[in-house]
Amino acid sequence: MATTFDKVVVPKDGKKVEIKNGQFITPENPIVLFIEGDGIGADLWPASRRVFDAAAAKAYGGKKKIAWMEVYAGEKANKVYNKEVWLPEETLTALSEFHIGIKGPLTTPIGGGFRSINVTLRQKLDLYACIRPVRWFEGVPSPVKHPEKLNVVIFRENTEDVYAGIEWKSGTETSDKVINFLNKEMGTNIRKPSGIGIKPMSPFGSKRLIKMAIQYAIENGKKSVTLVHKGNIMKYTEGAFKEWGYEVACEEFRSSIVTEEELNSKGGARGIIIKDRIADSMFQQVLLRPDEYEVLATPNLNGDYLSDACAAQVGGLGMAPGANRGDTVAVFEATHGTAPKYAGKDVSNPGSLILSGVMMFEAMGWGEAARLVTGAIERTIAKKRVTYDLARQMPGATEIKCSEYATAIIDNL
Ligand code: NAP
Repeated sequence: MATTFDKVVVPKDGKKVEIKNGQFITPENPIVLFIEGDGIGADLWPASRRVFDAAAAKAYGGKKKIAWMEVYAGEKANKVYNKEVWLPEETLTALSEFHIGIKGPLTTPIGGGFRSINVTLRQKLDLYACIRPVRWFEGVPSPVKHPEKLNVVIFRENTEDVYAGIEWKSGTETSDKVINFLNKEMGTNIRKPSGIGIKPMSPFGSKRLIKMAIQYAIENGKKSVTLVHKGNIMKYTEGAFKEWGYEVACEEFRSSIVTEEELNSKGGARGIIIKDRIADSMFQQVLLRPDEYEVLATPNLNGDYLSDACAAQVGGLGMAPGANRGDTVAVFEATHGTAPKYAGKDVSNPGSLILSGVMMFEAMGWGEAARLVTGAIERTIAKKRVTYDLARQMPGATEIKCSEYATAIIDNL
């Protein structure tokens, strides 16, 4: 029996995306969910949606068309449901049922019972991988000499590590209790009053993330997967991440991979190279030898830092797409925030959301639509017709509005 929703309207002209062997099976008129987003989300979403619809129309001559279905989160959810509800239960139900969604940025509520809507969404739907491809578009201003050399896809674990949200404030009864236990029972010598945070990392959580990264490398003809960790210091969490990474690579992909150590000792071995780098060294490597890396698998905190650093290297957050993926649900998202000072002004760069849509098209198997959008963005930037964030750094550029930028991309499809 079909689920009934309170405020969400299921489009009559669409069909559900199905899942088979971990792959999305996309009908010609798939129902795809969207969360408009707060702040600049209301500017970016309509602009981006026009680009997606135009690309699908051009790629498939009207044969394939997305049936959009709006679900709510953030400030808009409070308005629509007429009460304080930042992430309605039916939004989670709809995402679980229809499998694919795309979202704009969301305000982090002050109070509201949880830290962040994004983190809650990831945890409730078990979206265990945050995937961030980072590449340079010709003409985009960059702080480095050779931004074209960086072209990586970062797979960041999304549910564990210090982001699990297990922590106790300094000087409270609970933190004192934890400190007493550790000092008395475990032989530690923790100062009082200290704040305490827990860093859980499991073989299950690490291996499924690394498996997804290696699978991606195989499917996309990549040469290497690098496990990024700080295992020289945090041996049983980050160090274990590295060990589990090699384990899952050998257990599940033996005929397709070769470890860097095997390559160095035997030579001549073939396959996707599995290597590891200590996190601090990795930050140097992406600056000094970026073309030696293609797919990076990281624990949660390292991945958060590294993906923003890489994005900055190729021109900033306005152009950085992202996806949160589990085994049966994918939520594609702009990686920047709601930029409240620009909200409603129609000036912000929709590039991050539009490129997240490119990732979505790829996941849906609509590769031609994805290629059209990517090419159109390249051409629009090459013509130097860009939003303020890029225009202010590009000599001779014409600054255009968010909606005009979307129109320019459509004209360049
Ligand atoms: P932010 O919204 O990302 O904005 C910081 C600055 O980044 C903006 O002032 C602007 O820089 C630039 N920027 C961001 N998006 C842009 C775009 N599309 N086009 C051009 N420039 C863009 O970060 P924030 O001010 O720290 O956070 C604001 C709110 O967003 C908070 O409530 C935060 O919790 C939330 N947030 C949500 C997400 C998410 O939903 N994924 C992520 C991060 C933050 P200039 O002023 O230099 O032009």
